[in-house]
Amino acid sequence: MLRVTQCGPIAVFRMGKHIAGNKRWVLYETHSFQLDDTMIDTGTISVEDEWKSKLNGYRCSAIVNTHHHEDHIGNNRLFQEKFGVPVFAHPDALSFMENPERIRLQLYRKVVWGRPAASHGTPIGNEISTARHTLQVIHTPGHSQDHICLYEPMNGWLFSGDIFCGKRLVYLRSDEDFWLTLESLKNLASLDIKTIFCGLKGVVENGGGSLKSKIQHMEELKDKTLELQQKGLPPHKIRRRLLGYEDGMFYLSNGHFSKQNVVNSILGIKRSINP
Ligand SMILES: [Zn+2]
Repeated sequence: MLRVTQCGPIAVFRMGKHIAGNKRWVLYETHSFQLDDTMIDTGTISVEDEWKSKLNGYRCSAIVNTHHHEDHIGNNRLFQEKFGVPVFAHPDALSFMENPERIRLQLYRKVVWGRPAASHGTPIGNEISTARHTLQVIHTPGHSQDHICLYEPMNGWLFSGDIFCGKRLVYLRSDEDFWLTLESLKNLASLDIKTIFCGLKGVVENGGGSLKSKIQHMEELKDKTLELQQKGLPPHKIRRRLLGYEDGMFYLSNGHFSKQNVVNSILGIKRSINP
């Protein structure tokens, strides 16, 4: 599934894989955006054929990747072959784009998104200009080390990749860092943000307020976790108390995506345990 809608001058591409051929069910959708002739992320290779059918008459002069994950760089090569455009990203993302075999894909990620084809990246600077807008590049590690956001101050637009993903935090990947994510979100909260363009949620109005809600939620979760640790509760009991039992996300991802990862990251424990 690949659908395009418009939010002011920004094209919003919503995409994902249909479940068992049912057109109403989409597995973990993702979003890319187009501002002027610049694409911000290229989505998942699982919808490459749908992209191909859209590209005739299409204009693209540059791509920016918010980070190296397969649901954000999936169609880089298609765009590069069609338009010969540069792909800008954080320097740490480039080797994954050149050699996607380096991305350690668990089975669920192979099924949902698929492994991207190789593309050639260029290190991004402190800002990037489209035909009519200048975007500030902000390093926002936490979801991944190479994660960046793009901020357009004149209109208060934040292209947030996967660092926001909604007002609540229930799951983390085992390679995500709670503390770095919180710090990155706090840095973003100092900006005047009207609209968030999020990799997971798409267009989020009241961006600044939504960001502050997420920070408050994470602060409370952190404080309660540390308080329960002080009282002597083991990590899996803290998780049960604050977030409940693991659910389908844990089992589908074989523990890569879990509630326990949230608690463990707060406590500085690396691997998830006790589903
Ligand atoms: Zn990601």
